[in-house]
Amino acid sequence: MSAPAKAPVDSLRELRSLLPADAVLSGPEIGEEYSHDESLTEPARVPDAVVLPETPGQISQVIGWARERRVAVTPRGSGTGLAGGATPRSGGIVMSLQRMNSILEVDPANGVAVVQAGVTLCALDEELAGHGLMYAVYPGEMSATIGGNIATNAGGMRAVRHGVTRHNVLGVQAVLGTGVVIRSGGKYVKVSSGYDLAQLLIGSEGTLGVVTEAILKLIPRPAASATVLAPFAGLNRAGDAASALLARHAPSVLEYLDRMSMAGILASESLSVSIPSGIADAAGAYLLVMLDDCTDERLAQTVESVGTVLDGCGALDVYVLPAQVAANLIRARERAFFAAKAAGAGDIIDVVVPRAQMPAFLDRVEEIAAGAQTMVVGCGHIGDGNVHLSVFQQDPATLTQVVAKIYAAGRALDGAVSGEHGIGTAKMRYFLEHTETANVDVQRHIKAVFDPGGILNPGALFPAVMPA
Ligand SMILES: Cc1cc2nc3c(=O)[nH]c(=O)nc-3n(C[C@H](O)[C@H](O)[C@H](O)COP(=O)(O)OP(=O)(O)OC[C@H]3O[C@@H](n4cnc5c(N)ncnc54)[C@H](O)[C@@H]3O)c2cc1C
Repeated sequence: MSAPAKAPVDSLRELRSLLPADAVLSGPEIGEEYSHDESLTEPARVPDAVVLPETPGQISQVIGWARERRVAVTPRGSGTGLAGGATPRSGGIVMSLQRMNSILEVDPANGVAVVQAGVTLCALDEELAGHGLMYAVYPGEMSATIGGNIATNAGGMRAVRHGVTRHNVLGVQAVLGTGVVIRSGGKYVKVSSGYDLAQLLIGSEGTLGVVTEAILKLIPRPAASATVLAPFAGLNRAGDAASALLARHAPSVLEYLDRMSMAGILASESLSVSIPSGIADAAGAYLLVMLDDCTDERLAQTVESVGTVLDGCGALDVYVLPAQVAANLIRARERAFFAAKAAGAGDIIDVVVPRAQMPAFLDRVEEIAAGAQTMVVGCGHIGDGNVHLSVFQQDPATLTQVVAKIYAAGRALDGAVSGEHGIGTAKMRYFLEHTETANVDVQRHIKAVFDPGGILNPGALFPAVMPA
C-alpha cells in the first residue's frame, strides 16, 4: 500500500467547494455523536470535518480530494457499531451517509427493495409493512443503516433462519478508494458472472469502498407467530436442546440467555415473565424460541412439537408467552447491550464457534472467568454459535487477559473472533492473531487494489500504513 491517511485537514476551503454549502461541518458544528460508535473500549476522537454527501458523484470527489491530501475518511451510518469501526482517525474526516436515506423502489414482483445506504432498518421496515413484506436481517438496533449493516455483515436474531446480511443483499453500488463508482449484482438471486464484488464489499467495514446503494431481498411477513421460553438447569442442557431443536425445526429466532443475563434484562426493562419462583431459582439458562408460520393451525402444531423436543431435552418447563410479554422480552433481549453497559461491562465479545461447540466454549469461558475472578455474563444467537459475552472486570490488565483468553478459546474450537459485530479497530489485534497469515496477506492485497491510498477507514481490520 502506497500512502497513509494521517495528514490533518489543513484546509477546508477546497473540501467545501466540492459539496453544497451546508454539507461540510467543522469545529463546533461537529456534533458529539460523530466522534464515536457504541464500542465500550475505543476512545472517542473528534474528526477535523464531517461531510454529508448526497450523491455518489460527491463522494467520489471527496475521496479524490482526500487521496490527494492523504486524509483518512471514515464512512459512517448511524454509529451503532460495537467495534470502533466508525470512530474517526485523528486528523481525518467522517463521511456520514445520513442524507442518502431514500427508499428508491419497493419491487414486489422481483421481491426486492432498492435503497440508499443511509436508510435505517426502522424506516425500511415501516415502508415494507405496508406491502406485507420484510427484510429479514434483524440486528438488535433498528436505528442502524443498511450501509452500516452491509459494512459489518450484520446478523441478528433472525440469522438462524434467514442468514446474515450477505445472504440478503443481492446488489451493491459503491465508491471505491480510487473514486471509481462500481455496481455489482442485481435484482436476481443467482449470478455466475465473474468475481462477486458485492460480496467482497459486504463485511469490508468501510475499508474498500463507501456503499451508496443496495438491492435487498424481501420475504413475506409471517402471518402467524408464537414465542416459547424454556428454562434449563444449565447452559449445557440448553445448548444440546438448541441442536436437537434445529435438527427438526426452523425457528425464526433461537436465542439463549444465561441466568444473569435474564435477570439483568428483566430488571433493566422492569419486566416480568411470570415464571414460578421454584423454576426460576433452578434455572441456569433459558432458550427463547420464536416460530413463524403461514396459518394459526400449522403454527399450533409446530409449537406443540417444539415443546415436546424441549421437554425431552430437559427443559424445566416450557412456556408459550402471551404476545405482548413476548414482544417485551425480545425487545429487552435486543437491549441487553445497554443493560450490560449500564452495569459497568468493560468489554463485549461476539465470538462465533460451530454451533455444536457452544457448550464446550461456554464451559471454557466459565473456567477462564473463575480463574481471573471476573464476571462474564452471556446471551446471544445460540442457533448460530454466536455468543455475546459481557466481561465485568475493573482492572484493565486483567480485562485484557481475560478477553484474550476467550478469543483463544474460540479459535481452539474452530471459531472466529467476530460473528457479526466486525473487527473495527477494537478487535484488530485478535483478528490478526487468530487469522492465518496467508489469508490476511491476500486481504491486504485486495485492500491495496480497492484503496491504493489507504485512506478508507485506516486502522480498521489492519494497522494504518504510515508514511516513511
Ligand atoms: C443495542 C445494540 C444491539 C446490536 N445488536 C446487533 C445484532 O444483534 N447483530 C449485529 O450484527 N449487530 C448488532 N449491533 C451492532 C450494530 O447495530 C451493527 O454493527 C450495525 O450494522 C451498524 O450499523 P450503523 O449504521 O450504525 O453503522 P456504523 O456504526 O456507523 O458503522 C459500522 C461500520 O460500517 C462502516 N460503514 C457505515 N456505513 C458505511 C457505508 N455506507 N459504506 C461503507 N462503510 C460503511 C463504518 O465505517 C464502520 O466500520 C448492535 C448494536 C447495538 C447498539
